[in-house]
Amino acid sequence: MCGIIGFTGYLDAAEVLLEGLSALEYRGYDSAGIACCVNHQIVTVRTAGKVARLQEKAAGRIHSSCGIGHTRWATHGGVSEENAHPHSCGRVTLIHNGIIENYHILAEELAKLGRRPISQTDSEIAAMLMDSLYEEDPKEAVCQAVSRLEGSYAFCILFSDRPGIIYCIRRGSPLVLCHTEEGSVAASDMVALLRYSRDYFVLPENQIAVLNADGIEMTAPDGTSVHPQILSVTWDLSSARKNGFKHYMLKEIHEQPDALRRTVAPRLLKISVTNEAGRPDAYLPDLTADGIPDLIFSRMNRVVIAACGTAMHAGLIGRILLERLLRIPVSVEIASEFRYQDPILDEQTLVITVSQSGETADTIAALRLSRERRAVTLSVVNVKGSSIARESDYALACEGSIKLKEITYIHSEAYAAGELKHGTLSLITEGVPVIALGTQLNVLSKLISNIKEVRARGAMVILITKQEAIIEECLYDDRIDLPDWPDLFAPFGAAVILQLLAYNTSACRGLDVDQPRNLAKSVTVE
Ligand code: GLU
Repeated sequence: MCGIIGFTGYLDAAEVLLEGLSALEYRGYDSAGIACCVNHQIVTVRTAGKVARLQEKAAGRIHSSCGIGHTRWATHGGVSEENAHPHSCGRVTLIHNGIIENYHILAEELAKLGRRPISQTDSEIAAMLMDSLYEEDPKEAVCQAVSRLEGSYAFCILFSDRPGIIYCIRRGSPLVLCHTEEGSVAASDMVALLRYSRDYFVLPENQIAVLNADGIEMTAPDGTSVHPQILSVTWDLSSARKNGFKHYMLKEIHEQPDALRRTVAPRLLKISVTNEAGRPDAYLPDLTADGIPDLIFSRMNRVVIAACGTAMHAGLIGRILLERLLRIPVSVEIASEFRYQDPILDEQTLVITVSQSGETADTIAALRLSRERRAVTLSVVNVKGSSIARESDYALACEGSIKLKEITYIHSEAYAAGELKHGTLSLITEGVPVIALGTQLNVLSKLISNIKEVRARGAMVILITKQEAIIEECLYDDRIDLPDWPDLFAPFGAAVILQLLAYNTSACRGLDVDQPRNLAKSVTVE
């Protein structure tokens, strides 16, 4: 999930890299480092910890026009300066986002040649391999090396005898590039490029990009030149800033009504109907502007929603909505499992993948597999990073629990209320906090019985329910009322309350809400 950036051009490279790394830090913050070409040598500065520490360490030390930078989310090897990127071997210095799955086999082969790594990372093995294959042609060495790699990667590579040039290649991990009169930039995400350009292109997989100050050249594996497909950013960088909120999380919580409105409203078609209630207008969903004709849906007899983490919880809510409204069976699959389960899919299956970042490696793999098996695919992606909808009953609790664990480090478990008596009730003792979610009035009486069971064992109960719900006061310590929305949509409001509960708990404990330990926001590795 690491964030990577490369720059070559007419600006101070170290400054460009450090600023880019700050923007990419959401992708990982275990360690950070930069390497720049200075007088035909590569100078590297690395540190364990966050980009701010690297900024202090690197300040004024490097004057260069070309370099690469990395902010790490450790997969192989602990969090240390030794394992921080960039990694160098001989004439090669590189940064890597991804996982080299066969690194141990390659390491054994390299050991036979007398080459031994300094770090514990898979990435250093890639640097060693490239150096062992490098004679005179950097592109040749890169191509030969990646043909031996299994797993995923985005690399930015410096060769010490090719000053001012950066070589990039990727498979599975993201990499976007742009060129302006100030120079050429490559990065994991547009947020690091936006200061230079709104126009960019995505490096196609397995093609090599060669960046110098005056342009970017792309070559396919067979050596032919490739012309990139230029894309333009339509959103504003301000949406990626805090906009007066203390934390990104708080901003995202508050953005939800607007995000929901902006997502749903343009996809509703107003139609006129006459009915007894005298309401002349009704709305039907219309996805034709997204290139999805209605016909696609009428052919389907099954829906599969594949996603990870919070997006999977949103899928669980989606299942309830879809099944209730469409009467078509819907299953929700964890993308990382689904991709290896040899799923049964056909032309009448609609596979909906959900990913906040649009980069989740497991979800992308699930999407590709579904396409291969001729299922119809539809993706719900929020590249700007604000989460929208979640949960109900079983799903809403899951999301509340994951947020609590994620940012407060307090263990919590999510259960369908009726499941408590099948085991978990044994954990309830005097004062254990229980958050009861009573968003569905048709099963409220069942929930009340479950609350009584935990109350009888001394639990402290916080009840989230609807204003109209009549519940004895002795059954809860605190009650938070939701507006009287239809039951189907009540979980949307309850989700916000759970998010705020997690947010405020984290803030009160003095924790880093936006950069919780061991996590990164965009999960681009398996
Ligand atoms: N596998 C590399 C490391 O652990 C890169 C990790 C990543 O991109 O998430 O350093």
